[in-house]
Amino acid sequence: MTFHKVRNGKLVPAGRFQVMVDNFYARNEPMILRVLDATTRFFLRLRARPVLMLLSRVIGSVIPTGEVVTTERAVNFIDAISVLDRTEIAVGPCMCQKALGKRNGTYIKDMVILYGVEAYKMAYPEYRDLSPEEAKGLLRQFHDEGLIPTFYSCLRSSGWIYAICNCEGKICFPFRAHQAAGAVMFPGPDIVTLNSEKCTGCGTCVERCHFGANTLVNSSSEVNLAKCYGCGLCVTTCTGLAREMVNRNGYSCRYYPIDLVGNVSA
Ligand code: SF4
Ligand code: SF4
Repeated sequence: MTFHKVRNGKLVPAGRFQVMVDNFYARNEPMILRVLDATTRFFLRLRARPVLMLLSRVIGSVIPTGEVVTTERAVNFIDAISVLDRTEIAVGPCMCQKALGKRNGTYIKDMVILYGVEAYKMAYPEYRDLSPEEAKGLLRQFHDEGLIPTFYSCLRSSGWIYAICNCEGKICFPFRAHQAAGAVMFPGPDIVTLNSEKCTGCGTCVERCHFGANTLVNSSSEVNLAKCYGCGLCVTTCTGLAREMVNRNGYSCRYYPIDLVGNVSA
């Protein structure tokens, strides 16, 4: 059975080498996460942020880094790969929670895709296949929970996307590493806009944004667009319907296969 990868906007068979490399990473991922987590904590205690930034760029060129997208874009991706003869989507335990022995919210939320399904199912029998409809339903459930849909890839290559992780701010190691050192998570194709006249000052957007992009000033929301990664989480809970997602100017496609899916919806 051949699983797929994305190349030049098309689904093409993934090679055995690619599957075996991802399988090797998957088997060792809990250990890698524990080592990186301990290393990050160590340098944070030393306040050695420049060292962490250097490490992040070197290590991040090999291990997975992610691009944040809206839930609708993740759903559109599931639709785009539904043309395959069989499902190449599965879900399993959050590797960060599993590796670090901590729990926060939903545990079964690591959604592997394409050749990542074969690699992770070989490593962990608890991954179960999802139909496209189940996958889309789960993504919407994760959105309601405030999790960030993030397309992860190895070797900083768009051809190596293998998972849609649904990240949060407390345990997710890539998120915390990004906060500490950068170069681990990247903004996606969309960015928020705010109509201040509609803002009720409820503050939900401040709570909802993991990236600290929103603040309340004089009972009205303000957005720091430089901090908006484009997850869309603040839009659907905005009580004043004051927020929308729009295409990001100067977006540089990193991992989300916009050529395959099309720029259909934010
Ligand atoms: S969630 Fe919407 S209405 Fe509430 S403070 Fe934020 S922008 Fe204003
Ligand atoms: S401002 Fe909204 S869309 Fe931007 S990162 Fe924060 S929650 Fe996501």
